[in-house]
Amino acid sequence: MKVVLQNLTKVFPNRDKKAKSDVIAVNDFSFEIPDGKLVGLLGPSGCGKSTMLFMISGLQKSTSGRILFGDDDVTEVSTENRGIGLVFQNYALYPHMTVKQNIMFPLQNLKGKDKLPKEEMLERVLNAAKLVQIDTLLERKPSELSGGQQQRVAIARALVKMPRVLLLDEPLSNLDARLRLQTREEIRRIQKETGITTVFVTHDQEEAMSISDVIVVMKEGVIQQVGAPQSVYDDPKNLFVAKFLGTPPINVFNGRVENGKVLIGNEAILNVNGIEDQDIYVGIRPEGLEPNADGVLSCKLNNVEIMGRDASVVATHDGSLNATVRAIIDSDIRVDTTNPIVKFALKPHKVFLFNKETEERIGF
Ligand code: ADP
Ligand code: MG
Repeated sequence: MKVVLQNLTKVFPNRDKKAKSDVIAVNDFSFEIPDGKLVGLLGPSGCGKSTMLFMISGLQKSTSGRILFGDDDVTEVSTENRGIGLVFQNYALYPHMTVKQNIMFPLQNLKGKDKLPKEEMLERVLNAAKLVQIDTLLERKPSELSGGQQQRVAIARALVKMPRVLLLDEPLSNLDARLRLQTREEIRRIQKETGITTVFVTHDQEEAMSISDVIVVMKEGVIQQVGAPQSVYDDPKNLFVAKFLGTPPINVFNGRVENGKVLIGNEAILNVNGIEDQDIYVGIRPEGLEPNADGVLSCKLNNVEIMGRDASVVATHDGSLNATVRAIIDSDIRVDTTNPIVKFALKPHKVFLFNKETEERIGF
């Protein structure tokens, strides 16, 4: 089931009399979620992700715009009748009910022609429980489960009604690191097996990048960029997107273009054609910096952190906007730590230039 979001806007009236204006939580959001795909809605806290998800679910009414599930206009349809499954960060299970009763709950609420016979309800519960691999825990209470197991119950409960669209709002945030990784792989598997069109909201770029077919990067209610995770990473449209994706984050420097050369401080790091002389920001991904005695960018070396497979060269530079400049290199590469200066050669496709006023990317 494809989901079409057309010019969705959500304005919250400001109750604070001193505040100048209302809060525009989501601003003219248009996007078509392809059938059967998992879309990662990504952005910093407060950028409007949950509001967007609530509008798709019908829990919140949009101020303007339209929502279609396939060819059905559901803009005015209530949450119960939209055919959605919802999973939140806090699992919100009923503590006095068993796992089985929790999963069955949405089915017992079905009325009229949708009402199911008891055997079919049980079968659906068992199928959903198997899918999330908790079918041996059906008689337990939520308090007898780990966080990861509780979140699986919440996912089973969302799936049991066979929703047309699955909506997940930061579903992994309450889990510890290892469980987060495992559960995210599980969600991906379940999504692929069921083929349910899914929206996965997160502020964690790594999570969104690893799980999504398509990511939508948001800032202050506005879509910044849409695309396959790797293509957005490799080809960010603006400084915000470049900074938001990637750990460690992209290194950003004050720089300038002069006579077809990009300069950081007094070092020419790159030749570019057809760009007017101007001040710019230069972004260099950590994997785009290679220690090299003949390198073009000189930094003050702090230290080298070896982290198993990779090593991180930590340095400083007067032109850097980040506190430190970081390069990620293979841990086999030796860096001379007795030298206070480390020079880097650059991989040109890991270097991005941005307009200093608009922060839009400048192609070269
Ligand atoms: P996110 O999920 O990305 O962290 P939200 O969608 O929760 O962001 O919030 C987006 C913006 O809308 C924030 O500025 C938030 O304070 C505001 N907001 C969210 N819900 C309400 C509400 N019920 N009333 C007023 N403002 C709200
Ligand atoms: Mg939120």
